[in-house]
Amino acid sequence: MKIADIRATTVTVPLEAPLRHGNGCHWGRFVRTIVEVEADNGLIGLGEMGGGGESAEAVFRAMKTYLVGRDPAQLEEMRFLIANPTASLYNNRTQVLAALEFACLDLLGQQWGVPVYTILGGKLRDRVPFASYLFFRYANPATGKGEVRTAGQLVALARELKQRYGFTTHKIKGGVFHPDYEVEVYRALAAEFPGDSLRFDPNGVWSTEQAIRFGQAIEGLRNDYFEDPTFGLNGMRRTREMVRIPLATNTVVVGFEQLAANILNMAVDVILLDTTFWGGIRACVKAAAICETFQLGVAVHSSGELGIQLATMLHLGAVIPNLSFAADAHYHHLTDDVIEGGLMPYQGGSIAVPQGPGLGVRLDRDKLRRYSELYRRLGNYPYDQDPARPGWTPLVPNDRWADPTDGRPVDIPY
Ligand SMILES: [Mg+2]
Repeated sequence: MKIADIRATTVTVPLEAPLRHGNGCHWGRFVRTIVEVEADNGLIGLGEMGGGGESAEAVFRAMKTYLVGRDPAQLEEMRFLIANPTASLYNNRTQVLAALEFACLDLLGQQWGVPVYTILGGKLRDRVPFASYLFFRYANPATGKGEVRTAGQLVALARELKQRYGFTTHKIKGGVFHPDYEVEVYRALAAEFPGDSLRFDPNGVWSTEQAIRFGQAIEGLRNDYFEDPTFGLNGMRRTREMVRIPLATNTVVVGFEQLAANILNMAVDVILLDTTFWGGIRACVKAAAICETFQLGVAVHSSGELGIQLATMLHLGAVIPNLSFAADAHYHHLTDDVIEGGLMPYQGGSIAVPQGPGLGVRLDRDKLRRYSELYRRLGNYPYDQDPARPGWTPLVPNDRWADPTDGRPVDIPY
């Protein structure tokens, strides 16, 4: 089997409501690039990458000159071809490599008649548990519904999600309002679900001292971990010295060099593996093995996925022995998916690992067309901007908080 063609299509899929975070907002939808790697036998492997548009599609088209005629089983070769660490100093293509790796693994699984988890060493679990990923949200401009700004609204959303999907782990994405306000929201969540696990993630926007202050304030709660309270290995290390909660990151350890630095001088306890940020599912499996050796915790990070990327997270979650926490996914905020059958179902807070050959998901061509048309209509959105505060520039550490008493709706095209 040889690679014959590579295609990329940008889509945008609506969210239930715009999701606010410490660095800006998801303006009511995700933009993703769907990658198809076609083999000379007609099989099509699927990949996915965050963001999109002309330039992202052009990057994948350009990869044809590297990959057409090559065997998709030569994955280590492809790593150096696409993302050689010194040759790619000026064109970081780790995420491109990841999308192509997903597609090649999908091709191999289909050709060999096995799921990707079999290629990766076999599955250790049939289902992967997920956290209820809770965001402060603007109301959906089309319906006026879905706002989450107050503790009451956030707890109500968590209650609804727990009832609908069965989550027993809850994560708040903070860093939006003043930390004194957010700590009260977190406490309200903890009080509502005393038996459930919790985690808080302000996306690294606090000063080290603020991180320590918040961390000490939540020490008595049922925390899985405290995620990226401040930015940088040194800030995390200083926080870790002062706070008795394991620290987790998806920002300061997102590659092997940083993992090595963290092990030599420990700053973070739990590494959140992202199949895109690390350059593929296999890179995450390797990183998980290093974490196993050094007894660091491991969980699965979400960078905002549709079903193809979710499938990579499920196959990863299935094969790593040391998955010690529920995975993160934005998935339950989506209104639809581009895969056959629509959104994958949750049951008891978990999603079944796909059983079909390859990644086990196939493209719904009608949906791909519909959401690629929607992308052409709506275009990209500035992820690092807040639609309610034009001109706002978040600092790191930040002190330019949103106002929790400001309930004005935002006007975003839907
Ligand atoms: Mg995070």
